[in-house]
Amino acid sequence: MRTSQNPVFIPGPTNMPEHLRKAADMATLDHRGPAFAGMLKPALEGVKTILGTTDGEVILFPATGTGGWEAAVSNTLSPGDTVLAARFGMFSHRWIDLCQRHGLNVQIIETPWGEGAPIAAIEEALTNDKEHRIKAVLATHNETATGVKSDIAAVRGAMDAAGHPAMFFVDGVSSIASMPFHMDDWGVDVAITGSQKGFMLPAGLAICGISPKAVAAMETAKLPRTFFDFRDMRDSMAGGGFPYTPPVGLIHGLSVAVEDLLTEGLDNVYARHTRIATGVRAAIEAWGMTPYAKTPDLFSDTVTAVKVPDGFNGTDVVTRAASEYDMAFGVGLGEVAGKVFRIGHLGQLTDAMMLSGLSVAEMCMADLGYPIELGSGVAAAQSVYRHGDNVLALAAE
Ligand SMILES: *Cc1c(COP(=O)(O)O)cnc(C)c1O
Repeated sequence: MRTSQNPVFIPGPTNMPEHLRKAADMATLDHRGPAFAGMLKPALEGVKTILGTTDGEVILFPATGTGGWEAAVSNTLSPGDTVLAARFGMFSHRWIDLCQRHGLNVQIIETPWGEGAPIAAIEEALTNDKEHRIKAVLATHNETATGVKSDIAAVRGAMDAAGHPAMFFVDGVSSIASMPFHMDDWGVDVAITGSQKGFMLPAGLAICGISPKAVAAMETAKLPRTFFDFRDMRDSMAGGGFPYTPPVGLIHGLSVAVEDLLTEGLDNVYARHTRIATGVRAAIEAWGMTPYAKTPDLFSDTVTAVKVPDGFNGTDVVTRAASEYDMAFGVGLGEVAGKVFRIGHLGQLTDAMMLSGLSVAEMCMADLGYPIELGSGVAAAQSVYRHGDNVLALAAE
């Protein structure tokens, strides 16, 4: 039994504020009564605001982000339908795999890992699809495996430039509630996330935003679905309930989490993530390393995959952090296994917490013989996090 707990630096599940853990821990209550309806409503309303939608609706399932992927396709598509997706990391790969297992025809744009959604190639594929066989475009907003953020507005721009009527599904599991997301402005038909990343809750909720176009597509979609049927869930939620037993504690937790995020102010939440990420990137530069994301416009503000020098295995950093310092970082997945280690920096996180993570990463790398100087990355991050104005004011006193 551990008596103390370090923060985690995996890109989900994220650190949970104590009061959110407590909010998710509830005595049994009748989910068909008014008490449950009273917590469901603010949770749904808050998520709508965070997704940036007024036209859309929010649907929750007892699941995780992966369940959200499944719900998106099974509610809107029919067997044999074509979808367009770029593969540039483990999460875009897994969503493609899920589509294939559902009998969809996935037109895959193979994209080097470390790059983002290939806008020109998407536009070309859509322009060439004169018969409109492509029913949906899938995009992974933030590829958690490589720390790459894609330009979702530009994907929408490519769809519009091609004059293509496909639906647009966006995996926002590691971006929503941590990075700006504009479901209506971007014309997103299904937006997907989970409870255990930006919302700082235990895993257990798939959170989907659905547009009127997605709602209309349900009427003709022929893929089988029961547990994940949006129609049953919409009907029940309209009456303040669930078609089956809801995870009441998580939904209560979600109602508190959205209130927290909206009280902090979404712009402040996003700015905090950007500031913390900027400090992490400054540290990496001081170590003489680079993020795996190829160009600065692709740098994610929620997770950084650190490219390790040749001759080193990034997984060893993660293993050593766990065994020697009781701290969790993310390993490289799939194609980048061993080539990177990942630092998650989303959810409940402060500058001070981040400095602790960077300092432990430094100790691990030094232990393993990396050519870095202890304290160099921490100092670089401190120069980002330090309150310069206050320092000047103090000096003037
Ligand atoms: C974590 C993650 C997922 C998978 O979500 P689960 O909640 O683990 O099912 C999907 N996509 C992205 C981008 C993720 O970061």
